[in-house]
Order: sequence, then structure tokens, then C-alpha cells
Amino acid sequence: MRAAIVNAFGGGFDIEDIDIARPIGREVLVDVKASGLCHSDLHFAVNDFGMAPPMVLGHEVSGIVAAVGPEVSEFTVGDHVVGSLVQFCGACLECLSGRTVSCLRPEATLRADGAPPRLSRRGEPILAAMGTAGFAEQALIHENQLVCIDPAVPFPEASVLGCGTITGAGAVLNAAGVRAGEAVAVIGLGGVGLNVVSGARLVGASRIIGIDLNDEKLELARAFGVTDGINAGEGDVVARVRELTGGGVDHAFEVIGRKETAEQAIAMLRVGGTASLIGIHGAGGMVEFDANGLLREQKKVNGVYMGSANIKHDIPLYASLFLQGRLNLSDLIASEIAIDEINEAYEELGSGRTARTVITRF
Ligand code: NAD
Ligand code: ZN
Ligand code: ZN
Repeated sequence: MRAAIVNAFGGGFDIEDIDIARPIGREVLVDVKASGLCHSDLHFAVNDFGMAPPMVLGHEVSGIVAAVGPEVSEFTVGDHVVGSLVQFCGACLECLSGRTVSCLRPEATLRADGAPPRLSRRGEPILAAMGTAGFAEQALIHENQLVCIDPAVPFPEASVLGCGTITGAGAVLNAAGVRAGEAVAVIGLGGVGLNVVSGARLVGASRIIGIDLNDEKLELARAFGVTDGINAGEGDVVARVRELTGGGVDHAFEVIGRKETAEQAIAMLRVGGTASLIGIHGAGGMVEFDANGLLREQKKVNGVYMGSANIKHDIPLYASLFLQGRLNLSDLIASEIAIDEINEAYEELGSGRTARTVITRF
């Protein structure tokens, strides 16, 4: 099958023919219909985050079940599914407490050491990164990492549910617990940030301030619920937020992964406010803040991982809200591309002009 392989960090993606194994145990073979280009995959393709080439990345996957392993109980051939990088065992204390993103045995969703690899190239093992490896014609995924969805959801929109939406909307609903009437700022209006905006609209935030360097993004963000847009390249962002809100926001979300914008998120809070940090930083990335100011103003800094999502609950919820017309997914999809265009599409993502690009042709 065709797949986009990372053969070396920083070397881009090579489109090659590789082999995929038959499903064993609780594995499900999925015909991939759409695979979203999350910014995280670009980080993983360039920097060593513990996943080593040769590897297939891609963790916003939707498709149709093509075959199931003998122990699969939740899926049958023909089901429409969404995959997620959240790997959880379902039996440890964290999982049983509902915190599946903090599972103590995430490797339970992978093949045992020494077992034949899921992916290979002329006998050489290739890492199926994050257990999803969605930048390929087919993906072999443990059933815990998959969710069945209503076939009425188109595949491109469905794919974004697997990361952008559960992370962005989940940051608001689960991790930060924004309440109706609170003022929110979102710094970085990409595929994840726009879903933070959606979450803020769902919970009834009083004001949703969108901040980006790109005017096209600020315009697009209005379709998700942004009430005020600020171009970060024009003037003092923190002063502008304070001015708009008469003192600062209750919640600021940083959805880029930069020191200065994370510090802006903390600085733009009103007394008692919470800064939620979502963007992934380069290795060893540090953020500084005025310690006495933080305690005097009782601010909170909140690290957010995968929107504290419980995928089996959250993905069907967001799919249903989409079908009811209450969650905008369609305007996220900037373009549908062939897998051969993945390198150009990731270059374009770096420009900040597009929301989500989705591979739909393999
Ligand atoms: P993206 O590239 O689509 O969006 C980033 C946006 O930030 C762009 O619109 C860009 O114009 C804007 N931007 C860049 N510099 C800016 C600045 N100085 N001020 C204001 N805006 C600026 O990325 P994405 O796919 O939405 O992902 C966003 C971040 O979230 C990435 O770092 C990604 O790795 C991370 N992420 C984290 C989690 C998690 O669990 N914490 C999950 C998924 C993604
Ligand atoms: Zn992602
Ligand atoms: Zn667990």
C-alpha cells in the first residue's frame, strides 16, 4: 500500500509502497478515507519526540473498517470509524478514573515486543507511530483507539474529530471548564485553535477574542464564533485584550507553542483567570512569568493534553453536535489533497494561511 514515510528527521515525507500486516487480537484494519495534517505531525517529523524513523505518522484518521482481529468486539466490517492517538488500556487506575489520556499502560494498544511489525518495507520494520499511522492507504489500529461514528459525517470532517476537535473543544469543556458568561481569548487560530473557539461558543462564553498573525484566519474565525479579532502583528496584544475586556479575560488559550505567546496568555488574564497551554514547544521549551504577580492575582496555568478527552465519549458527542449544526467542522477543511502533495501542504501550514488540509486520495 502507499504511505508517506519519514526516513530521517527533517527529511520530509517520501511516498513509498510498504506492507501492512493482517489484524491480530483486538486490531482493526481500516481503509483510510481522510487523514488530517495536524501541526504536531510536523513537530514529530522534524524533532525527536521519542518516535524514530523510518515511521509513518498521521493521527487524524477516518475511514471504513476493512477487517477485524479475532478478539475485536466493538467493530464490524463496513463501520465508519475515527482514530485517535490517545492510547489507553481501559483497566489501569487512571483509565478507571476516567483519565484515559493519562493511561499507565498505553503500550497495551500496541503489538508485544518481538511480534511481527504492523508495518514493514521488504521485511524491515517501520514504526506505526502513535498506533494510528494514518498517512497511508490503510491503518491497523487497536480498537481502543477507534470510535464508531454516524456515516452521515463526511470523512474529512470526521478525521479532524480525532485530534483537532477533541483537543481544542476538550480544552474548553473538560480541561479548563469554561463557564457560560466568561470571557475567552484564543491565541493561534489553526486547526486546533478554531476548535477552542467552537468549544467557547458551545459553553456560552460572553466574548471570544481570536488572536492570530493572519488576517484571513481572523476572518475565518468569525464562522466559528470569534466576536473580536486581534492581529498579533499590530501593536500590544495584551494591552488590546485588557482594553476590550476592561481588565483581562477569564480564560486564555495558547494554541501555537511559543514562549512569547504563552507568556502573553498568562499576562492577559484578569484576577483569578486561567491560562491553558496547548501548543507544543520545541524540546526543553521554557515559559517565564512574574511569580509574585501570579500569586497576587491568583492566576492559574493549566497544561492541556489532548483536551483531557475520553475519545469513546467525546468523539460521538462532537459528531452529533456537528450533525445538529451546532459545531462547525466544515469550514476547518481548507483543502483535500493527494498523499503525494503532503510536503507542499506542510509547507503551506507553516505560512499560517490554512486551517486543516486533509489527505483524501492515496
Ligand atoms: P496550525 O499551524 O494550524 O495553527 C497555528 C496558528 O498560529 C496559525 O494560524 C498561525 O498563523 C498562528 N500563529 C503563529 N504564530 C503566531 C503568533 N506569534 N501570534 C499569533 N498567532 C500566531 O497548528 P495546529 O494544528 O492548530 O496546532 C497548534 C498547536 O497545538 C501545535 O503546536 C500542535 O502541535 C499543538 N497540539 C497540541 C496538542 C495537545 O494535546 N496539547 C494536541 C494537538 C496539537
Ligand atoms: Zn494532532
Ligand atoms: Zn490505562
